[in-house]
Amino acid sequence: MAGKNKSRDRWRPATQLVHEGTLRSQFGETSEAVFLNSGYVYENAEEAEARFKGETDGYVYSRYANPTVSMFEQRMCALEGAEAARGTASGMAAVAASLLCQLKAGDHVVASRALFGSCLYIVEDLLPRYGITSTLVDGGNLGGWEAAVTPNTKAFFFETPTNPVLDLVDIGAVAKIAKGCGALTIVDNVFATPLGQKPLALGADIVVYSATKHIDGQGRCLGGVVLGPQEFIDETLHTFLKHTGPSLSPFNAWVLLKGLETLPLRVARHCESAARIADFLADNPAVTRVHYPGRADHPQHDIAKKQMAFGGPLVALEVGSRKEDAFAVLNALEIVRISNNLGDAKSLATHPATTTHQRLSPEARAELGIFDNTIRISIGLEDAGDLEADLEQALATLT
Ligand SMILES: *Cc1c(COP(=O)(O)O)cnc(C)c1O
Repeated sequence: MAGKNKSRDRWRPATQLVHEGTLRSQFGETSEAVFLNSGYVYENAEEAEARFKGETDGYVYSRYANPTVSMFEQRMCALEGAEAARGTASGMAAVAASLLCQLKAGDHVVASRALFGSCLYIVEDLLPRYGITSTLVDGGNLGGWEAAVTPNTKAFFFETPTNPVLDLVDIGAVAKIAKGCGALTIVDNVFATPLGQKPLALGADIVVYSATKHIDGQGRCLGGVVLGPQEFIDETLHTFLKHTGPSLSPFNAWVLLKGLETLPLRVARHCESAARIADFLADNPAVTRVHYPGRADHPQHDIAKKQMAFGGPLVALEVGSRKEDAFAVLNALEIVRISNNLGDAKSLATHPATTTHQRLSPEARAELGIFDNTIRISIGLEDAGDLEADLEQALATLT
């Protein structure tokens, strides 16, 4: 695919992310072409017939596949070490498809309770409407996963680190329990980034991303991707996507391809700054608690050391003791902007209790470690010293 490269099998991630999957047209363009077309033409009727029968390779319709989208999928496969992948219109389309493509009425799913809001909706509300039952467990408690298994359990689903307070799930241990009962393990790997954690190598079967986050990384477009074994992706998932249509736009695939080229540089900077800012926050008198997997005081730091290459690009903290304290800090910030989004070049802070998790009762939030004074910060690409100064002046409003 990538041309005359005998060394391709030995490429390290930074090289894969610039070259892997490039399908160069007859014009020899350097940057990947945007194939912004919905359909394809055939030389003759026989060719159309053969293409539809699957007897010859080639594209037939962009809801099924598209060259720019294929380039993105192949580059993601190389990065993830996956056999196959499909791009989707958003991260939620990836999560929904990874579950719905394989489940049917009577099946059962076990998921960690600490999930991105829309993922929780799918597991808790949507699946049961179609007769697929679910059990939510405390992701950090291995005994809970085991106890939740029923004879009909078909899938385990979780994210790690979790949104928003960065609790961890031991991927290898949970995947082992799933294997033991014949269920597939699906990991939403957004918060760790594809460079920071390799769920497939740790025993998971399927990985999903919101590419909207660090893969684009510049707040420009929505996208998602599901990665896993060839048969699952090319048969089970592909059939579902082809007929239900949550396709990734070729233009967005192109934006994401450009994002992948700089992913290692950006993720290194995000994570280096996040680690520094977590330490800085821990020393600030207005900060009651810091959640950062890379710090030795994270309650699951041993799991972080086992499965994460770095502490990640997000930091969560508790300030003062009340909602008013959190709001005062958020409103005083000048560089860090208030937004529920994450994984942008711009640092973004959110108050989960009143935004992303406002649907939950205060008790349910407390169970997840989300309090009225909890703030989540997605660390951006600004100068880390400037971010520290901004946080310092905002926190000073409390003391
Ligand atoms: C953002 C996000 C999603 C959803 O992705 P969209 O691209 O917004 O649809 C799912 N899971 C996690 C962990 C996320 O951060």
